[in-house]
Amino acid sequence: MPAKLVAAAAIVALVVGYFLGLWSDLGGWLSDLWYLLAASTLVPNWLLGIFAICAIVVAGLLGAGLRPTRNVRRPSPISTQDNFFNIRWRWSYDASGGVQDLSPYCLRCGNRLVLKHVGATRPADRYECRCDRCGAVACEIDCSVEEFESRVLQKIHETSSG
Ligand SMILES: [Zn+2]
Repeated sequence: MPAKLVAAAAIVALVVGYFLGLWSDLGGWLSDLWYLLAASTLVPNWLLGIFAICAIVVAGLLGAGLRPTRNVRRPSPISTQDNFFNIRWRWSYDASGGVQDLSPYCLRCGNRLVLKHVGATRPADRYECRCDRCGAVACEIDCSVEEFESRVLQKIHETSSG
């Protein structure tokens, strides 16, 4: 390693110079400066070496990142949508093909709908899908939300199998 040799030579020269009393303090500073400048001309050599190592490491990392291991198939959910009961339903399929994240959206403005209970004045459980944004009532439901969603699921299965 040239840098080590230069450093060793500088130390030896400084020590020898110190014992010989050839250099004054100013001379020592100047010699230090000189050796620093001399060493700096060698810097690109080992610096290039470090850069080369860095480049190899970076290239290796990039190469690893571009390898097909990235393309390992995950059971990515397939999002889809369809309109049932005057409502746009969006959902996705899990790995086993089951419907998940079933959620209703307004057909008019696309806002997310919330199933709300209408009230006890009705003879039976009734829910309505009213859009909070545009005020449109998508539909009224004469059953529980769970049953309504199961009807939607049935529609989805009919559509996907048909
Ligand atoms: Zn709306």
